[in-house]
Amino acid sequence: MSAAAQIGVTGLAVMGRNLARNFARNGYTVAVHNRTAARTRALVEEFGHEGEFVGTESAEDFVAALERPRRLVVMVKAGEPTDAVIREFAPLLEPGDMIVDGGNAHFADTRRRERELREQGIHFVGTGVSGGEEGALNGPSIMPGGSKESYEALGPMLEKISAKAADGSPCTAHIGPDGAGHFVKMVHNGIEYADMQLIAEAYQLLRDVAGYSPAEIADIFRTWNTGRLDSYLIDITAEVLAHVDAATGEPFVDVVQDQAEQKGTGRWTVQIALDLGVPVSGIAEAVFARSLSGHQDLRDASRGLAGPKAEPLGKAEAAAFADQVEQALYASKIVSYTQGFHEIAAGSDAYDWDIDLGRVASIWRGGCIIRAAFLDRIRAAYDARAELPSLLADESFAREIGEAQDDWRAVLVAATRQGVPAPGFAAALAYYDALRADRLPAALTQGQRDYFGAHTYRRTDREGSFHTLWGGDR
Ligand code: NAP
Repeated sequence: MSAAAQIGVTGLAVMGRNLARNFARNGYTVAVHNRTAARTRALVEEFGHEGEFVGTESAEDFVAALERPRRLVVMVKAGEPTDAVIREFAPLLEPGDMIVDGGNAHFADTRRRERELREQGIHFVGTGVSGGEEGALNGPSIMPGGSKESYEALGPMLEKISAKAADGSPCTAHIGPDGAGHFVKMVHNGIEYADMQLIAEAYQLLRDVAGYSPAEIADIFRTWNTGRLDSYLIDITAEVLAHVDAATGEPFVDVVQDQAEQKGTGRWTVQIALDLGVPVSGIAEAVFARSLSGHQDLRDASRGLAGPKAEPLGKAEAAAFADQVEQALYASKIVSYTQGFHEIAAGSDAYDWDIDLGRVASIWRGGCIIRAAFLDRIRAAYDARAELPSLLADESFAREIGEAQDDWRAVLVAATRQGVPAPGFAAALAYYDALRADRLPAALTQGQRDYFGAHTYRRTDREGSFHTLWGGDR
């Protein structure tokens, strides 16, 4: 077999197949392989005309088909299957070769795999890929970690197949060593959960407080999509809301069971934030909202609980309320991104990754699920001040959120009055108010901790650690 392929892809389910086609369409010769060979044959048969594929059935043939240094992309189910594939291929590789894991791996697994393969001289490139199957085919946002050397050999190819932002720049860049790429992909997904939850809350408020129909709400989202909320998620939300179920003639959204599922990356974002001590309350509420929706027994058992009498708004009031919801959504979105970027900065510090936050915002501008005009603004904020402690410290975001806050509060008042849950909006506002508060009740918490556990406290007027001898026989 001739060693002609510049890149190889193993794992040819939706993501791997489309990524392989994307490489081939961009002029690369692509060796393809899958555990179940039928998938490999189907790819070559169906899409062979799109470019140069080398179909292989054994691991040995696959590796032999690759030019050196070998670039081997793994797109299999995350977790043990990825380890199984590495165990199969690593012994066949040579120093300088690269294994690129494009699955949704946990960054801690990526750190372990990178360390183990480094001993063998193999570059392990843990790579976040976002954009779903459509992105994989037409240009995803790609977040590669690993050594600088591996990026030199791989980067130009990734830049070619990645999405391009409106200014033409590729939506990929070297994120940082070992697990940095998968960490950033994880937080991307956490922000995605928060974005989706905030949009869902906006929808429910427009429906249950303002009294709009799904089709009317679709129109409102379309209008929002021409402004500062311009994004893929707002765009597809309008499509979903406008869709009518063919079987019943009902709005599609009304025939879908209201239990949201999750695969785990949002949950990881929150778990790791807890470990790092980063408050990602908006992202956490989004994960919990999905979890709550799935507890059908609990929900059934709670239906009889008392709530306020809902009184939908009149037409003129409804239009004004919709404008306020736009403000609340935008302000809450600023908070989600503030929290997500804080987590990336904390991860970068903890693991010495030296991640360029502006560059992360830049490569999320195209291809990925959270792509949005808004990301240009975040990039500009970090470009202006790389050491920005928080997005809320950026002058233009601070001004916008300040301008939105009256409406944001009014929306939450209406939600509370009507008994419509808006946990994402509420968590975001609480975060904002807590950060801007002169004094927090944490002082009281410290007093309680000192009382029952002699945990000590620090004073506002003197240096040092203090303990009070509290009364009673404790
Ligand atoms: P998937 O359903 O996650 O995985 C199926 C693929 O994994 C098949 O090729 C399967 O081979 C292979 N596989 C499973 N266990 C294996 C094992 N023990 N040894 C070798 N191969 C094994 O496929 P996907 O949806 O295309 O996703 C691929 C990766 O991309 C995943 O890690 C996923 O998390 C990530 N990802 C997915 C999306 C998305 O939108 N779907 C977006 C971003 C990232 P067989 O054909 O032989 O069963």
